Amino acid sequence: MTHSPFLAAFAAALALAGAASAQPAATLTNDHPKGIDLAGMDRAVKPGDDFFAFANGGWMARTQIPPDRSSWGTGGELVELTTARVQDLIKTAAAAAPGTEARKIGDFYSSYLDEAKIESLGLKPLRPTLARIAAIKDKKGLASEFGRELRADVDALNSTNFDTPHLFGLWVEQDLNDPHRYAPYLLQGGLGMPDRDYYLSKSPHMVAVRAAYKAHIAKVLGLAGVADAQAKAQRIFDLGTKIAEVHAARAESEDVLKANNPWARADFARKAPGLDWPAYFAAAGLSQRPQFIVWHPKATTGEAALVASQPLAVWKDYLTYEQLNDNSNVLPKAFADERFAFYGTTLSGTPQQLARWKRAVNATNNALGEAVGKLYVAKYFPPQSKAEVQAMVAKLIDAFRVRIDKLDWMAPATKAEAKRKLSTLKVGVGYPDHWIDYSALKVVPGDALGNQQRAELFEYRRNLAKFGRPVDRGEWAMTPQTVNAVNLPVRNALNFPAAILQAPDFNPANPIAMNLGATGATIGHEVSHSFDDQGAQFDADGRLRNWWTPADLAHFQASGHALAVQYSQYHPFPDITLNGEQMLSENIADIAGLNAAYDAYRLANGGKEGPAQQGLTGDQQFFVAFSQSWRTKVREATARQRAITDGHAPAEFRADTVRNMDSWYSAFDVKPGEKLYLAPAQRVRIW
Ligand SMILES: [Zn+2]
Repeated sequence: MTHSPFLAAFAAALALAGAASAQPAATLTNDHPKGIDLAGMDRAVKPGDDFFAFANGGWMARTQIPPDRSSWGTGGELVELTTARVQDLIKTAAAAAPGTEARKIGDFYSSYLDEAKIESLGLKPLRPTLARIAAIKDKKGLASEFGRELRADVDALNSTNFDTPHLFGLWVEQDLNDPHRYAPYLLQGGLGMPDRDYYLSKSPHMVAVRAAYKAHIAKVLGLAGVADAQAKAQRIFDLGTKIAEVHAARAESEDVLKANNPWARADFARKAPGLDWPAYFAAAGLSQRPQFIVWHPKATTGEAALVASQPLAVWKDYLTYEQLNDNSNVLPKAFADERFAFYGTTLSGTPQQLARWKRAVNATNNALGEAVGKLYVAKYFPPQSKAEVQAMVAKLIDAFRVRIDKLDWMAPATKAEAKRKLSTLKVGVGYPDHWIDYSALKVVPGDALGNQQRAELFEYRRNLAKFGRPVDRGEWAMTPQTVNAVNLPVRNALNFPAAILQAPDFNPANPIAMNLGATGATIGHEVSHSFDDQGAQFDADGRLRNWWTPADLAHFQASGHALAVQYSQYHPFPDITLNGEQMLSENIADIAGLNAAYDAYRLANGGKEGPAQQGLTGDQQFFVAFSQSWRTKVREATARQRAITDGHAPAEFRADTVRNMDSWYSAFDVKPGEKLYLAPAQRVRIW
């Protein structure tokens, strides 16, 4: 479970391609002034009416979303800074001796950047793959191709990525039912748009998106010289719609109890007939795995049935399109531009493609993430930052322990389990204890497409190699240069990458009230996921075992319901109401994280309010820093997409979490009648 949708934004940016633009001068120093951004506030707004505008109105008024971004805010600024820093590190790495890890980074980056070479090669690097698909003679051969294309490109619980263009996606993680081993998890896949809703919703917006998608498929096929592109596009689109019909909705994907379906390998033919499973598993290198956890049983059965019922020729067209579409960032410019036109502009509302060098940085981060991360932390994450954040984490964990003791609704046995879980929580700060070994990854200068294919295959094999080994709780789900944070529920572990631990959210020069209001609330958010409705299902060892009494659960669900109702009253657009249930875990985590961070800040000041600074009381600093950490502007198409696919509420509503805290009312003298005012009984208190 991630802290924010920035990871998704990163992945989307990586997938997009198009025109290169002139490279701006890289800003390599973090020049955020210390303290609260006073000029970014709007004192004309009453905090009790619109706290987000009070804390961020000045910034909102003077800020424009850069043309190559779908959203912009504190996170975006840090992404931009980190991208420039990484580029600088990569350029230095390019001069390293051949065969070294640093040189691989440099070669990967410069091959991706070499658009003239990519243009001159045309479709040549993809020809062997396309020829392999064209040569498929029967459904058994089709099953083998699906197996050959399986990749470790989904993640059900950590980074929560449910989207793969392949028929299924593989995730290798600690077994839900046995913490001592890894299990292969099989997830639904095969859609070219972000969610089943895009294929099935009757809203006029989605109807228009579908027309554009169909045209996009035809254009991609046409660019590759495929005959009869229009008719084929229609059939590929219709097949996508059939796949969408058997897919689970996002909210269902998040329900781990529905997902814990261990199937023996021999059961697949009976439970999901239609796909030649022995051929599939053999081609995927999974013939030796005795058991799989099938995350989406209905979709697995439904997709296998479609393999049997739909014509071979349509499946081959579908695979051909998918290869062209998926690799368009390393194909000639016309492919890259077309991909951006649909995924960047139509789906996300972004007018301008990211500069090629930024996409090259993202692609390198994706392929050799920890090799780049090693260089990044050596230069930009000093040991004292790590020590200070670790001290903050310790204060937050203390605050949680105290809060658990004080809960009047939780049974003593449950409290003991919660405290055991808190004591075994593995908190990673900055970077992992040990790094991925990339020596098996071959990077060939001048072969951008081949490098990308080999990197995806390397990652797949690296994951397969985990079977039979003890579970490594120290492995990270994010790279150190990622501006995000994550909770890993089955490993009872947290990752706080170095790139999010910097100003303005974390600044060693700031008072602790500000650091805890911004970064502390983020840390608290992630810690609390271990104890929320999902966390309650995993015990201290990560076994799927609910450790709450029925009465604990009833209380929690009642409080959760009140919060779902609170968020379901928010309307980001007149025709869109937030789905409070879909976002419940994240909203609970926001409340819990903010409460724990507040306690930790007070604890750090001997139980008292921190000293005034910049004309703000200690408590005011805490809450304004929190709200400023959420400052974001989002393009409408992206905001609409997130409202459907994202487990998080939009940033301005996350900033409104404050209205559930008594200390916010006293800090700003918020009175009944003001828009955000909640009577004490309506304030949701869960932890
Ligand atoms: Zn979260």
